[in-house]
Amino acid sequence: MKILVINCGSSSLKYQLIDMENESVLAKGLCERIGIDGSKLTHKPTGKENYSVETPMEDHKVAVQLVLDALMDKEHGVIESTDDITAIGHRVLHAGTIYSDATLINDDVKKVIRDCFDLGPLHNPANLIGIEACEAAMPGKPNVAVFDTAFGMKIPEKAAMYAIPYEYYEKYSIRRYGFHGTSHMFVSGETLKCLGKDDAKVIVCHLGNGASISASIGGKCVDTSMGLTPLEGLIMGTRSGDLDPAVLQFICNHENIDINEMLNILNKKSGVLGMSGVSSDFRDVRAAADEGNERAIMALDAYRYRVAKYIGSYTAAMNGVDAITFTAGVGENDTQMREEICEYLGYLGVKIDKEKNAQARGVASEISTEDSKVKVYVIPTNEELAIARETKALV
Ligand code: ADP
Repeated sequence: MKILVINCGSSSLKYQLIDMENESVLAKGLCERIGIDGSKLTHKPTGKENYSVETPMEDHKVAVQLVLDALMDKEHGVIESTDDITAIGHRVLHAGTIYSDATLINDDVKKVIRDCFDLGPLHNPANLIGIEACEAAMPGKPNVAVFDTAFGMKIPEKAAMYAIPYEYYEKYSIRRYGFHGTSHMFVSGETLKCLGKDDAKVIVCHLGNGASISASIGGKCVDTSMGLTPLEGLIMGTRSGDLDPAVLQFICNHENIDINEMLNILNKKSGVLGMSGVSSDFRDVRAAADEGNERAIMALDAYRYRVAKYIGSYTAAMNGVDAITFTAGVGENDTQMREEICEYLGYLGVKIDKEKNAQARGVASEISTEDSKVKVYVIPTNEELAIARETKALV
């Protein structure tokens, strides 16, 4: 069984074709700048030469067709025809309160995705276009939606509800949903496998450009740091994470900007970028900090302090923790950041083996010492494989 995984952003489309017999990637790639000048497809077939083509892609429909052409190409392709694809799994951002599990797509599901455009204005429209493009290009093939909110949706009411008038939940479904759900589900599941314990208490730190943290018991999420939108929680590359909402009113009044512009600033110009004034890329911020840039030092200090505070609060929420796992761009690559975060966790009996930490890369690795009271892991996230597994289970 071969499953095509599609992840549409507002101007991009990432894909992977996965052979579910052995969960190997047959090909993967990316369409960039869809709807903008300079559209480009980069196609990476396993065991064959990569190729890229710059060609106009006016919308995601054109992009899907180019992806299928690349997958079936005589030279760079990996399948004969679309008959070789059993199903398509789509990453979909938001389904409000309606769906919390992966779902076979029909007209009702598409309506829910459309009804949630407000909750995911950048992603949901692109996700729907990607789905409809696949339906048009491969009529009759099952399409499955795997929602990014699925894992976080399962948190108990006490963790989900904001302390605002209840009518806003009733009228508009305003609650905490959590994001990066597919990654948290996958990585917490892999952590349970490493521990060999089905009912373990696990904290996953997904530290990428976007960053979030989850607490789960036996693979069931009990709390997660993102909220109604991905803005809540940790300090991120460009997002502020938690802050006093009164800050918004103060800045809007003093800078004479409206709430939309304010949110744009909180999403795109804040986080370590806004604090350091250097970059949203942690490698650049680290380099500046190493050269003595005080704002870069402050941004990184604040970043790891916030992560450590969340780990403490999630340990309290679960009344303990068996394992803490780092994943995503920063979590998988930044050995120093992992070590510095864990320095806050001595009270939990966390001890890091510096050598193992330095060597952890690319595969699931334990980085804690033998006598550490809490296991610490680095586990590469694999959202595409998680989506393919969910899709396989449904079809
Ligand atoms: P997203 O999927 O949220 O865009 P990723 O999980 O790919 O992000 O993470 C991207 C981030 O990972 C980059 O912003 C970069 O700062 C960080 N990163 C990648 N490699 C390293 C590294 N070796 N050291 C520190 N940070 C890194």
